[in-house]
Amino acid sequence: MRPAENTPVAIGQWLQRARGLGIARLDAQQLVAHHLGRQRTWVLAHDDEVLAPPLLHALDEALARRADGVPLAYLVGEREFHGLMLQVDPRVLVPRPETEGLVDWALEAGAAAPHRRVVDLGTGSGAIALALKRRRPGWEVTASDRSADALAVAEANARRLALPVRWVSGDWWQPLRGEAFDIVVSNPPYVASDDTHLVALRHEPGSALVAGADGLLDLRHIIAGSPAHMAAGAWLLLEHGFDQAEAVRALLGQAGFEAVQTRPDLAGVPRCTGGRRPGTATGA
Ligand code: GLN
Repeated sequence: MRPAENTPVAIGQWLQRARGLGIARLDAQQLVAHHLGRQRTWVLAHDDEVLAPPLLHALDEALARRADGVPLAYLVGEREFHGLMLQVDPRVLVPRPETEGLVDWALEAGAAAPHRRVVDLGTGSGAIALALKRRRPGWEVTASDRSADALAVAEANARRLALPVRWVSGDWWQPLRGEAFDIVVSNPPYVASDDTHLVALRHEPGSALVAGADGLLDLRHIIAGSPAHMAAGAWLLLEHGFDQAEAVRALLGQAGFEAVQTRPDLAGVPRCTGGRRPGTATGA
């Protein structure tokens, strides 16, 4: 039963309330930590601490939104990705842990050369581009997005983290005419427009998720435009849906890529597929 309006509510009781609504304990603890400006470890040790009414009200509101499916990252305004704390809001997709595998692959692919030219197509919050720049400060990192809203979020993250990335505005290859890169990475939209999974993602921008009837619209477009923008020996590394690896490998093969291969994510799902342009890298 819900306590009456002015009955004091302690943190422990509020966490029980969240549990009753089916909210994961970790999420509930993080909401309390965020609203109190404390670490989660503090919350864990202060079950008996009474929540002041305005705070309780704000927490209940956040809880209702979480129960409605709003990602925790939007409610607390941030999400950790590859060792970076990124600010996120509904203008951008929430960075996912599976995308960290794409960053690791790009770091590996460029291991030998100090001055790689890298581009992250459809950067969103800037997660991939910023993670690469942090780990390889010597790389020239460019990132594009067609959403001005997303670029504003990415640029703010770059400023706060003091990571210099070149941001360009436009659709896929369109703002990069005449440029060639050594590593191209992208986590494009790849969900089919009638995928029932989209209901669970309804609070995130549809433009970052949906890619035509089969979910391959943007992947096809990126692959088709890539040979003109890639140096000899350059790598194209793409994230895709759980059932798209074979289709993406076929598209890369048709576009003349070599060493085409797929990597699984942490859950063992085939998640990223990449290939290399023919010829020998110059090492730039
Ligand atoms: N990985 C996201 C999801 O299905 C989709 C991200 C994307 O389309 N790039 O939850």
